[in-house]
Amino acid sequence: MSQEVRVRFAPSPTGPFHIGGARSALFNYLVAKHTGGKFVVRIEDTDRKRSTSESEENIKEALKWLGINWDEGIDVGGPDGPYRQTERLEIYKKYTEKLLAEGKAYYCFCTPEELEAEKEEQLKKGETPVYSGKCSHLPKETVEQYLKEGRPYVIRIATPKNETLEVDDLVRGHVTFDSNKVGDFVIVKSDGIPVYNYCVVIDDALMHITHVIRAEEHLSNTPRQIVLYHALGFDVPKFAHVSLILGADKKKMSKRHGATSVQQYRDAGYLPDALVNFLGLLGWTPNSDQEIFSRDELIQQFTLDRVAKNPAVFDIEKLNWINFHYMKQLDADQLLAVCLPHLQQAGYASQNPDAAEMQWLKDMVWAMREHVQYGAQIVDAAKVFFTDDFAPENEETAAVLQEETAPAVLTMFHDELAALDEVTADTVQPLFKKIQKGLKVKGKFVYMPIRVAVTGVMHGPDLNVIVALMGREKVLARLQQSGLLTK
Ligand code: GLU
Repeated sequence: MSQEVRVRFAPSPTGPFHIGGARSALFNYLVAKHTGGKFVVRIEDTDRKRSTSESEENIKEALKWLGINWDEGIDVGGPDGPYRQTERLEIYKKYTEKLLAEGKAYYCFCTPEELEAEKEEQLKKGETPVYSGKCSHLPKETVEQYLKEGRPYVIRIATPKNETLEVDDLVRGHVTFDSNKVGDFVIVKSDGIPVYNYCVVIDDALMHITHVIRAEEHLSNTPRQIVLYHALGFDVPKFAHVSLILGADKKKMSKRHGATSVQQYRDAGYLPDALVNFLGLLGWTPNSDQEIFSRDELIQQFTLDRVAKNPAVFDIEKLNWINFHYMKQLDADQLLAVCLPHLQQAGYASQNPDAAEMQWLKDMVWAMREHVQYGAQIVDAAKVFFTDDFAPENEETAAVLQEETAPAVLTMFHDELAALDEVTADTVQPLFKKIQKGLKVKGKFVYMPIRVAVTGVMHGPDLNVIVALMGREKVLARLQQSGLLTK
């Protein structure tokens, strides 16, 4: 029977949860679900200065929001816990003692100044700076003596010389590294804290991880990790290093390109299913030109052999298009739930709207749904109801009001609207026909000037709907404000 696939996402909680991290988490999750395996989430917080519990919370919350749930790991537990590295220090210590006892690791007492001088010397000779291995030759008694004196030390792994370290990366193919360039690197720092490259190997081995799927930037760490797998006598897992995410200008995606964290997309009113769909296509190519994938379809179709070696380009237009697709599946209540925080933030909705306001807001977002690709865009769409100092958006729009028939049309509409018993989309609709007939003008010369006088723009939802939402008073005031009424 083939081995159960076990994958993991192992974020360092050192800042905002980057979209690239979410993509790595998603790919791992999809592999686990596709194969019926297990997905583990582990927190790599040994960089104590930069790790914060706030960032950890943020990551967990974002994963949950995206629906990327894990089978074992932080918060949910599992057989191989604890799942936070700072709670596993005793485990690493046990392995360090073993490596020291076997002569596979050694104490290094070199001072930072000595190491710096050594490095400069090597750089001068055009060599790759690697530790010379000086302390690996210290006699046992000297080591004991230094330890007794309380000299500061680090612990280094003794990397075998003249070996080729090989990785058959599932994305990048066969990659080799020269062990001499890896050198005897530090596994435990002078403060006693083990380093990432060391903890990650012990954790992945003890958690029975079969596939390490992570960002390309970790490919350069892989030779060190292989050295450690060998030294610790663990099986080496399969690796898959997923390409970088680039901005539209083909440079590594950064803040310069706009929002880079999951939180920012969430705050902007993107939908989790849309983001999952979009991230799934960021570096993975389905075998058809399908672009809309439900979570189940992604799970069914996702395989690592279709993960591209080339960098993925983050195309915000595509994300917006995908999100718009998912927005259109929402009913009015769901759409309002997505839009409401943005309307509140803009001051367009009260913090605790009463039933009447809720109904109006619901009708309004529903009317505007064709113009809202993601939640925050409702603010722009809704502006027309809340800003009185507006003017035609451009010359073409302004020209609509200069049509010869515009004053008569606006005036008749004003009077007809004023005379209605009740203003609703249904009662307003027949007025346009009435004006066409009464003034003998084509539909365009009725709808356009009214729309521009009332909204300042030439496009938008049905005019009768806009008028009904805006309400009689405001529409009459705006018709007056146009300065074109003939009486
Ligand atoms: N903690 C590492 C990071 O957040 C992940 C390393 C790994 O996946 O092996 O970049």
